[in-house]
Amino acid sequence: MGELCVRSVLVTGANRGLGLGLVQHLLGLPKPPQWLFATCRDPKGQRAQELQNLASKHHNLVILPLEVANPTSIKAAAAKVGEHLGGSGLNLLINNAGIVKITLLENETLEDMTEIYTTNTVGPLLMGQAFLPLLKKAAQGSPGSGMSCSKAAIVNMSSYAGSIEDVYVWEFGQVVSYRCSKAALNMLTKCQSLAYREHGILCVTLHPGWVQTEMGGSSESFKPPLTVDASVQGMLKVLSSLSEKETGTFLDWEGKILPW
Ligand code: NDP
Repeated sequence: MGELCVRSVLVTGANRGLGLGLVQHLLGLPKPPQWLFATCRDPKGQRAQELQNLASKHHNLVILPLEVANPTSIKAAAAKVGEHLGGSGLNLLINNAGIVKITLLENETLEDMTEIYTTNTVGPLLMGQAFLPLLKKAAQGSPGSGMSCSKAAIVNMSSYAGSIEDVYVWEFGQVVSYRCSKAALNMLTKCQSLAYREHGILCVTLHPGWVQTEMGGSSESFKPPLTVDASVQGMLKVLSSLSEKETGTFLDWEGKILPW
């Protein structure tokens, strides 16, 4: 399994947590992307400070505003990315941004269910639609008939918590709105894989492991098993190995196939 080698990548929710880790590791690859679009809600804000520092050192890093729950913001970002890329396409779209609310089944509300679904499921759907022309262009511009993340791919950051068969860590938190949104994201990924296969675009849904981030938890009293570095290293290795055999599958950061 070689290192990931990809010309252009876009990551959502890139200002902290796994998104920031992905950007750092992509920049550190032996052959880093020529274009790395790190998107976040507030590129000029305090929460994007680390990204701004990175951009001052890496000219291939472009920070763009992108709110995944806002179709206008998504379209504007797609237009900007198209301008930067000139005539070429976008090879790899990583829909990483996500939210959770710590809830019990009995106190889920219409508002919470809707907000989590909009961000975690509808966001990746709209992103796939808006970036489809650039992904198609990338696939058409790459030689060979096989699929890969170097050619054209959508990676949706899901969670094992969305597995209906396993209902991972139920005792730890019911988070019903989150689980439903990720189960739906898994279905979306399967649908994208079927619809985009003819364009040569690989689509997978990925569980990053239980990771020390704001979402995963990182207090002194409880630390999830994985660091951001370990998770991201694993995921990039997995991405480098994907082919048409894996399109439409649900994988973890070690490449293991997970039950739907
Ligand atoms: P964090 O909470 O640390 O980071 C979430 C990121 O998503 C932030 O950059 C946040 O931006 C961004 N974001 C949230 N809502 C939006 C929005 N509407 N538009 C744009 N960006 C948004 O989470 P993680 O890094 O831990 O999680 C990343 C992904 O991995 C998520 O999809 C999560 O569900 C998944 N995951 C994480 C696990 C873990 O253990 N950590 C386990 C399984 C899955 P802002 O700073 O503006 O809020």
